[in-house]
Parts: sequence; structure tokens; C-alpha cells
Amino acid sequence: MEAPAHTHLVGQDLDELSDLIRSLGEAPYRARQIYQGLYRDQVGTASAISTLPLSLREALERDHGSGQPAVHSRFMSTDGTVRYLLRLADERTVEAVFIPEADRDTLCISSQVGCAVDCKFCLTALMGLERNLTAGEIVGQVLAISMDQGLDARKRPINIVMMGMGEPLLNLGSVMKATRLLADPDGVGIPQRRITVSTAGIVPKIAEFGSHPVRGKLAISLNASNQQQRTEIMPVTAKYRLEDLLQACHEYPLRPWEKLTFEYVLLRDVNDSDDDARRVLSLVAGLKCSVNLIALNPGEGIPYETPEDRRVRAFRAILHPRVPCFVRRPRGRDIFAACGQLRRTSEAAPDQTSPA
Ligand code: SAH
Repeated sequence: MEAPAHTHLVGQDLDELSDLIRSLGEAPYRARQIYQGLYRDQVGTASAISTLPLSLREALERDHGSGQPAVHSRFMSTDGTVRYLLRLADERTVEAVFIPEADRDTLCISSQVGCAVDCKFCLTALMGLERNLTAGEIVGQVLAISMDQGLDARKRPINIVMMGMGEPLLNLGSVMKATRLLADPDGVGIPQRRITVSTAGIVPKIAEFGSHPVRGKLAISLNASNQQQRTEIMPVTAKYRLEDLLQACHEYPLRPWEKLTFEYVLLRDVNDSDDDARRVLSLVAGLKCSVNLIALNPGEGIPYETPEDRRVRAFRAILHPRVPCFVRRPRGRDIFAACGQLRRTSEAAPDQTSPA
């Protein structure tokens, strides 16, 4: 279950690289050159860090390797979204999604291979949990896609959402370390306020997450308007109860520029009534927050249906005057890249696939 021991370079912070460089008897400033080469300049491998002497590059490549996930395959949506299947060092694979928008790009990345939280509307749940990702594998998804798409966070904003496979708060150490590497201006350079971590509501971990000075914004998958409904569609919430979740939200140390996001997947005739909307409104009352509605993205083996647009709009209309409420447009449904559709499908219509 544990991630492989990582002597790989990607995922190491400056202190760790400094220790490594010292152990190799090299000049201390080499650590920063490796750090900048991998995270800021995103060259992909130690051997491509041109500021290093050839002998050091060869030694690093031989004994460590960058550990950056490799693009195994891409699935391209008609709307520009690209779902990536990325290969890890131990040959396992995870998915991440590139979502181009008008004035920025969004990368949806994974925190675990599979997921242990058994949400009944989500395809990833059907995989179970294979293992946690290392910090390097989390950052590495961003590096791999950035290289592939030619992205540069310093020229055009990149948003990161940890909404791919897995439950980030059940892999907190790696998620926090990855966030520091992503947010460091001398590292990947994606500001904290452009990073969102989404949780199914692992209540005891919320305060711990909030205690980290460098962290993404918190999104909470509410998905139901009362405890009974929530337990039915997200069995893990029998343990992490709605009232405790809301208390953790009230106690959460929001930074001045920040608000909570509640996500709510609408399941036809299950949690999408006007009464549900009114209950959601009273649940979030008093919290500085917004609500994102997502109509179910369907999948084989998912026993729910997608509500009609009309129902989604009516639900929003009840919430919006009181709390900012937005309907998330599904992106990449045709390639199974939308929320809840990641399950490492290697199949797609041939004309949608481009081999790496
Ligand atoms: N485990 C984390 C992050 C992964 S799920 C969490 O639960 O938040 C990311 C988001 O996708 C969650 O808000 C989840 O409720 C939503 N989601 C899952 N399956 C979905 C589906 N089939 N259709 C629409 N949204 C879905």
C-alpha cells in the first residue's frame, strides 16, 4: 500500500536536495540548480539540467532518475479537454485532466491510485485504493502535463484542482508537500490561491489541513442535504457526520481572501428537489462560502441518473440569492474525463486517442 521508497528527484524539496548534493560531495549551490531545473524550468530529467556539469547529470540520472510520471496516453475531447493516463515508476497508472479555458488552464490531478472512499456515484470508487501517491507523483502530474502542453504558470495562469482520483485528506503529508513545491515562486510557481483541494469530508483531517501555512483552498463535497441521504450515497459519512463536518467548517481558519466551496453532485430524484435546495441553504448558513452544483456525470455501474437542466436551474435559483451558486459545466464527458469518471479507462474511440 505504501508508495515506493523515493530517491527520485521530483518530490524532493530544497533541503532534501541539499542533503543529497552534500552526500555526493558537490558544491551546495548545485541543489538550487536542480530544484529550479525540475520545478521552475520543467526540463523533465536530471540529464537535461544544462546548468549542471555532465558528470553530475549522469550520476543523478543513474542513481536517482527524476521520477516524473510519463505520458502513457491521451484522450482528447471535442471541447479541448485532454485526459491523460500517466505511468508511474512502479508501472501503475493514474489519470489527470487538462482543461483549457478562456483566460487560464485548469489541471485536475489525482492524490491516490484509486480511492478508498466508496461514493456510490463515482467510478473511481470501483477501483478501490491501490496506494497513495508520493509528493513527487502529485507534482509530477503537473510537470508532465505542463511539458506536454507547453504551459508556463508565469505567463498564463494555471489552476490546480485536486479532484482527480483519490481522497487528498487521506494522503495529507504528500498533498501538503506537493502544494509547497507547486506554490513556491522559485518552484512550479502556481500561487496557493490557484490550488484547490477537494475532500469528501474526512472531518478530523480538516483542522489539520487548515494548520498548514501553505495550503490550497478547501472544497467540500457535500452532495446531500441531510445525514441519511448522505450516508446512502457516501457510506463513509456514517463515520464523518454532517453536523461534525459543518462544525469543522465553522472552525476552519479561512484566510482573508478565501472562502469555502461546497460541491454538490445532483442525482435525479435523490438529492435534487426544491426541499433539498432549501436544506442545503440552511446547512451552509453563516459560512463564508459558495456552492458548486454538478449534474451527475453518468458511468457504467453508477446506479443514478442525471437530472434535467431545468431541475438544475431550479435548484440553483433557490440557492443563488442567498449564497453564490454556480453550475459546473461538464468538461470532457465524451472521453470520460469529467468529475467522477476517472477510472483509468484505456479505451476511447480511436480518433480520440493520440499515442504518447
Ligand atoms: N475525494 C475528493 C476528490 C475527488 S472527487 C472529494 O470527494 O471531493 C471530486 C468531485 O467530483 C467531488 O465533488 C465529487 O462529489 C464529484 N463527483 C464524483 N463523482 C461524480 C460524478 N459521477 N458526477 C459528477 N460529479 C462527481
